[in-house]
Amino acid sequence: MAGAAASGAAVAGAPQNAKAYRETMETPIVARHQVIVAGGGPSGVIAAVAAARSGADTLLIERYSFLGGNGTAGLMTCYNGFRNQRAPETLQTVKGIPAEYIAELVRLGGVAERDNYERNFTHDVAKGDIPYTVPFDPEAAKMASLNLIRKEGVKLRLHSWVVGPMLDGARVTGVVVESKSGRQAIAADIVIDCTGDGDIAARAGAPFMSPATTGDRMPMSLMYRIGGVPAAEGAFGGIRIRDRVVRWGPGFGGDGLDVENLTRAEVETRVKLWEQIEQLRKKPGMESIALLDTPMSIGVRETRRIEGEYTLTEKEAIAGTRFPDVIAISSNPMPSYKGKRYFFQHEGFDIPYRALVPKKVEGLVLSGRCISCEQGPFQSARSMAPAMAVGHASGCAAAMAATTGVPPRKLSVKALQKLLVSQKAELRM
Ligand SMILES: Cc1cc2nc3c(=O)[nH]c(=O)nc-3n(C[C@H](O)[C@H](O)[C@H](O)COP(=O)(O)OP(=O)(O)OC[C@H]3O[C@@H](n4cnc5c(N)ncnc54)[C@H](O)[C@@H]3O)c2cc1C
Repeated sequence: MAGAAASGAAVAGAPQNAKAYRETMETPIVARHQVIVAGGGPSGVIAAVAAARSGADTLLIERYSFLGGNGTAGLMTCYNGFRNQRAPETLQTVKGIPAEYIAELVRLGGVAERDNYERNFTHDVAKGDIPYTVPFDPEAAKMASLNLIRKEGVKLRLHSWVVGPMLDGARVTGVVVESKSGRQAIAADIVIDCTGDGDIAARAGAPFMSPATTGDRMPMSLMYRIGGVPAAEGAFGGIRIRDRVVRWGPGFGGDGLDVENLTRAEVETRVKLWEQIEQLRKKPGMESIALLDTPMSIGVRETRRIEGEYTLTEKEAIAGTRFPDVIAISSNPMPSYKGKRYFFQHEGFDIPYRALVPKKVEGLVLSGRCISCEQGPFQSARSMAPAMAVGHASGCAAAMAATTGVPPRKLSVKALQKLLVSQKAELRM
């Protein structure tokens, strides 16, 4: 090939100067499920458990070799937003399956004894009474996620990139995956997009908002974990478990979906981080700290928000507008609202079911950080506790749609709310 190109001869199937390469392929359908959950992050794990518990044969697909999403692969080791960070914080807004997950994490010894601010917990986390934030050990989080899905009978497929939806017109009928086994298709009645970036919805043709069009973008950050931090240093500006501290490392701007920008981000932040560690070691008492881990990927905060049947506005989030089709509540602050951390003056804002139903595409439910909302509510609801609560709802909705044949757009929201409440979700009802 290289010889032919060098000699100037045309290469079959890839003529010189061609602007595109036409791929022709037939992809084998290797399995069928009622519900496919694409993406095994905080939202995807809870969605898969909820779908299986609600009666659907469920497959969870993840590109990496373990579960947990940005909490584990991104080393972002505190689950924020179980309740408002400040008064009024009496209502725990995230319960149900996410609370069961935290209980499993506690059982595995994976929750810190003190919070990120070096305060003792005033809540009984093990019993489901969960404070605003839960600092955790990422290895325990991988295990707890696995334990939850195995217990519920969720089928799992790791090492698999979902590269696009299977489509029948505007209806998603499954997904196409790439892995070491090659390119394969897996059929489903309903797919839940838990990729964080809304990969499936966007490729199925759903319209979306993105920082490129809205002009506002939360930056990426490279998290890291160091060991051997002396007790006297406390949390050391990060999240401490025993002598290990996870810290926020260098940031990077630009598009988190552009592979060239992502490559630059990984290289530049890693180089900067190495220099920072060398500086830290010069601090008296810190000479023997070790860089234990960097994440699988730089943490990408913000990419697409898919347009749904309803787009939750910033005004509504701040006012705490109640919606009759509430399926989850977010009480997490907006961390960079007009340059400051904004704390809601209420216990949390409602997330309506319509924000989980994409425009123009059937057979698909949205979940996690790609749901339909403006940037303000996104800043809040993208946090991992509300993302789990949304996952609980998307899993129940997908199972109901798959087992009854009623499309997600036409589901009875009352029945969905009843199911969620029966699984102990908090809907203020
Ligand atoms: C730097 C940073 C700091 C943050 N700080 C906090 C914090 O302190 N507390 C907090 O609660 N939240 C924090 N967040 C937000 C939070 O981590 C994310 O918004 C949250 O994890 C979103 O959950 P998710 O399940 O929607 O997506 P993710 O956690 O991104 O999970 C998506 C999963 O899908 C997989 N996936 C993606 N695409 C594909 C594909 N095509 N095929 C197969 N698998 C795929 C990924 O590997 C991943 O496992 C932070 C985020 C960042 C980036």
